Amino acid sequence: MSLEGRRITIRGIVQGVGFRPWVYRLATASGVTGRVCNDTEGVMIEAFGDAHALEGFLKSLEGSRPPAAAIVRVECTAIPPEPAEGFVIIASRTADGRRVSIPPDLATCPECAADIADPANRRYRYPFTNCTNCGPRFTIARDVPYDRAQTTMAGFVMCAACAREYETVSDRRFHAQPNACPACGPHLTALAADGAPLAGDPLDVVGAALCAGRIAAIKGLGGFHLACDARQTFTVQRLRQRKRRDEKPFAVMVASVAAAERLADLTEVERRVLTSVERPIVLLRRRPDAVLSPAVAPRNPMVGVMLPYTPLHHLLMAAVEGPLVMTSANRSEEPIAYRNDEAIERLRGIADLFVVHDREIETRCDDSVTRVIAGAPVVLRRSRGYVPRPISVARRFAEPILACGALLKNTFCFGVGDAAHLGPHVGDLENLETFESYEGSVARMARFLRVEPLVVAHDLHPDYLSTRYALRRSAALRVPVQHHHAHVASAMAEHGLDGQVIGVAYDGTGLGTDGTAWGGELLVASYERFERLATFRPMALAGADAAIRHVWRLAFAAVLDAFDGDAPIDALPLFTAVAGRERLLVEQMMARGINTPLAHGAGRLFDAIGALVLGRAESAYEGQIALEWNMAADPAERREYPFAIDTGTTPWTFDWRPLVRHVVDDIRAHQPAARISARFHNTLARATAEMVHQAATRVGRLPVVLTGGVFQNARLAESIAGLLQDTFRVHLHREVPPGDGGIALGQAMVANSVVRARGGRES
Ligand SMILES: [Zn+2]
Ligand SMILES: [Zn+2]
Ligand SMILES: [Zn+2]
Repeated sequence: MSLEGRRITIRGIVQGVGFRPWVYRLATASGVTGRVCNDTEGVMIEAFGDAHALEGFLKSLEGSRPPAAAIVRVECTAIPPEPAEGFVIIASRTADGRRVSIPPDLATCPECAADIADPANRRYRYPFTNCTNCGPRFTIARDVPYDRAQTTMAGFVMCAACAREYETVSDRRFHAQPNACPACGPHLTALAADGAPLAGDPLDVVGAALCAGRIAAIKGLGGFHLACDARQTFTVQRLRQRKRRDEKPFAVMVASVAAAERLADLTEVERRVLTSVERPIVLLRRRPDAVLSPAVAPRNPMVGVMLPYTPLHHLLMAAVEGPLVMTSANRSEEPIAYRNDEAIERLRGIADLFVVHDREIETRCDDSVTRVIAGAPVVLRRSRGYVPRPISVARRFAEPILACGALLKNTFCFGVGDAAHLGPHVGDLENLETFESYEGSVARMARFLRVEPLVVAHDLHPDYLSTRYALRRSAALRVPVQHHHAHVASAMAEHGLDGQVIGVAYDGTGLGTDGTAWGGELLVASYERFERLATFRPMALAGADAAIRHVWRLAFAAVLDAFDGDAPIDALPLFTAVAGRERLLVEQMMARGINTPLAHGAGRLFDAIGALVLGRAESAYEGQIALEWNMAADPAERREYPFAIDTGTTPWTFDWRPLVRHVVDDIRAHQPAARISARFHNTLARATAEMVHQAATRVGRLPVVLTGGVFQNARLAESIAGLLQDTFRVHLHREVPPGDGGIALGQAMVANSVVRARGGRES
């Protein structure tokens, strides 16, 4: 047969994941010659052979790929044949530099996990084992291209055995940049609370300490964790006190899927997400018989579970018996600690001992969080394992754009070319430490991408630190983007939508163009513009932000409003539990409008009604009551409450007062909370569907996106999607958080439309 040639380009996550060696092995096995190299957007192969050999090669490329690879597109064209000698891997071409060629950190692969468990292997119990299929990437990278010399592994010189692996194409560690072994790589050290070294094998020392109920600070991939036995209530409570964290749930790490099954009944999808290379925390509904201290997630029916994702975790889990609390090492509200000295200093008084090592973390990266909603995972916090994987967008960015995000659970986004790069989670931008971490993270991503954007997008809210940062940065163009418009644009971008959509944006709060707090919004939007078609009837926030903590005030405002001066306050246990003096004070504040802004937030309605029915006067953290209220819903209950949609106003108003009156009736009739919660959710879903249908009579049957922090609520998202999907194409967030952690992407898209309208150049 005669010689033929093919050029195959593969797009997706194919760099830094062992893709080229895999292609090499397939080519050699199929008997084709030629070459493979990384190009700016993926991998390019030129293969030569007879038709039969080429066909076999192409078929094998469709077979089992390296676990961390994700292929978006494959193109194959015929090229003139060349008489090549064998098959070669060509060094990376990174001239373009317009993309982060650094992959996200990858969870330990099964082969490496087997290596460290095998007493005959030279990496037995070695916590820094990795290969081309797994190991640290983003968190150790100092610059691009992603080569060892540009990582925090630069100072470690490979021993002869490691160098041989690194250079052998057929080896699993061929070009594994962080390749290391006990002879040449980083090492663990155990330290006492004061930083003095502890004698003995660090793994044995920490294992024994954890079993004895101590709290350990353990250096991980993207920062330190605080770990303790998740079954010992006294210990978990002590961790809460020391960390000054009231009731926010802790995540737990378990050794295996089987161990996770003992905490929660897993669906197939949940099992898949738990074991994915990203290894996020997965929020699961806790089994009633789960052996877990109630202090891990007080009053929370969910539990965040993750599997080991580094060799150190595997070794640690083998040294202890049960699940470990694994929570970001910080005091409340501060960013995660990530450097040895800094950790010892900042975690003084929290950790009883430390496990540190000499491989530096270059970039902080918290654990990511996911939840399965409507049968597929939604990333609620997008960080370790996902960042800096680019999100490809349908519309190219006319020039590089930096979007600064909002306030809570913040991230930023760089839009460059046809990709958006969301940064790692930096937390709530409310203090200097977090702000500095944010600033540093922005600078690092700019360096990785080799861009210094002159277009900067930000929230409308003038007091957000992200807005102030945007205003201080030198820029040729600043684009303020309304909060809910950004939410909608973010959902659109994720699904490659362009043109107009009907956007349902439900969240806690975001500043509107009229200066009031929005948050229960139905928009007709494109990237260019939006119209606010409908909103929730506003609720009084007595004491502004204080009302969000003292949630009984929200319930109080809702009930007073619903009954128009004739509210049965004394018949409701929530209010009789509040001191009369306090009630009077709040009533006066509302009557006189003192420090009592009105807010349209859908999240506030969840807080108010959840507090009312569950009898909870206070919320320990943002979203606590809403989540409990959500999880309380009886899945079998089908009834709804009455509500009204006033289309005589602009925008239309969803009037929840009839709903509140019926909730009060149900409380007085001693209906169980599970039933009231279900009816409440059914009502909100029905009202939303009705508003969308009304909108469609005006603007046509456009695609619908559901966005905003409220859509972390599986029950609501699933019910609304269920009611609409026969008539509309309905999109939920998947890769990008529905909450404010995803908002920067939408800001970048809106800013891009402004640049394009002004005739911006292509980036
Ligand atoms: Zn591996
Ligand atoms: Zn070595
Ligand atoms: Zn929001």
